[in-house]
Amino acid sequence: MLYQSTRGGAPAVSSARAIVDGLAPDGGLYTMTPDEIPKLDWREFLASDYAALAARVVSALLPDFSEAEARELVESAYTGRFASPRVAPLRAAGDELFLELFHGPTAAFKDVALCLLPRLMTRAAEKCGGTGDILILTATSGDTGKAALEGFRDVDGIRILVFYPKDGVSPVQKAQMVTQAGKNVKVCAVEGNFDDAQSGVKAVFSAMPEGLSSANSINIGRLVPQVVYYFSAYIDAVRLGRIRAGQKLNFAVPTGNFGDILAGWLAAEMGLPVGKLICASNANNVLTDFINTGVYDRRRPFHKTLSPSMDILISSNLERLLYLMSGDSALVSSLMQKLKAEGHYEVPAALLKKIQERFCAFCCDDAETEETIAAVWREHGYLCDTHTAVARRAAKEFGAQNGPVVILSTASPYKFPAAVLSALGIAFEGDEFAMMDAIEAYTHTPMPENLRGLRERPVLHRDVTAPADMLAYVKEQKEKKTWA
Ligand SMILES: *Cc1c(COP(=O)(O)O)cnc(C)c1O
Repeated sequence: MLYQSTRGGAPAVSSARAIVDGLAPDGGLYTMTPDEIPKLDWREFLASDYAALAARVVSALLPDFSEAEARELVESAYTGRFASPRVAPLRAAGDELFLELFHGPTAAFKDVALCLLPRLMTRAAEKCGGTGDILILTATSGDTGKAALEGFRDVDGIRILVFYPKDGVSPVQKAQMVTQAGKNVKVCAVEGNFDDAQSGVKAVFSAMPEGLSSANSINIGRLVPQVVYYFSAYIDAVRLGRIRAGQKLNFAVPTGNFGDILAGWLAAEMGLPVGKLICASNANNVLTDFINTGVYDRRRPFHKTLSPSMDILISSNLERLLYLMSGDSALVSSLMQKLKAEGHYEVPAALLKKIQERFCAFCCDDAETEETIAAVWREHGYLCDTHTAVARRAAKEFGAQNGPVVILSTASPYKFPAAVLSALGIAFEGDEFAMMDAIEAYTHTPMPENLRGLRERPVLHRDVTAPADMLAYVKEQKEKKTWA
């Protein structure tokens, strides 16, 4: 199985090469062809641990890695770094099911992929006969940055440079990033929003592709580890007796760049009994409109919301779905060109129909997000974060009569303490760090250990750049022999 560009303008490459390069040279995203998606029987894993399941999924989707090799990398990625040996435990709260993806080093779901990606990448570089350093370039809406920094820190042969929107991340997210230690890490603020930072990174990639790679969800090595927990969630739902073996399970996914939900689609194509994938958005509801109408239109106001990791108007991974559902790279290429030039496109009716067979979409605003946090706490004594609340709200709109739903819980509530306190109706004066203490005192929900003591850590990164100067900044940093 080789990986192709979604835009059809680049040679097919091995899975190892696709991981090393991140983005295809024609600007497209690497993907398998639709008829090459491997099948996997979830029943074989009813009695397995997470690592065994992950090893099979990873080696099926990335055939350059044997199952034994994948198992070794998976174990080194998660053992001792995730609070739960199940990695992604399924938690029942009353009649609802939350898939907790936030038990890793940065208390958000991107850890699941970003603890494994550096290991896949160093091994993939060896397989490609690579020598010389790789520079990882990443734009973050908040959580990816820290998770990537933690995943890549002090990995030999790799340096990582993270760009974040200067005023677009929460104080806790910012503190997590600017205090990051490690001899091979650098963090820089961009004067603009996430889309500016991401477009800037894409421009750097097209200007100087050599020796650069990406940890963004456009890297296929990011996507593959996320497929695993859809299988594990399904198996856990069967084990808990919440569904019958073979019954269809729906998933509500708080969506930004469309990576997480696309992983769910891949799991379904691999044979997992998935009903609907419920795409949940905040006020930046470009995907809600797209899934309901077939028109993708980014020409709309950008909202800063309480769920900042979903404040995105260009959902990069949607391109993979369009290719995988249509098999038509010429179509994808022209749609992406239109998006770039005019800010909108419309998919053909037949493609929209296919999308709607598998996906449905809902959005909510900040007030509804807070109401949902309060309702879940009131009904179940379960505290969820703002992103999870957006997904829970979508699950409610989807309706219990349409079958059981797993709500993907993508961050610890402690990462967004101001919104959580306000939702619970607790008046509080003080900074975000004091708010975290207040949440713990009030709810007795344990704070993730790695979020404690953040306030006292020294700031190590102060660089700021304009979007237009990102290329020059990257060149300058790449020239430096050492960052220590
Ligand atoms: C990144 C992120 C999302 C969105 O995931 P995508 O793969 O970009 O759709 C949702 N919630 C949180 C907490 C995140 O960090």
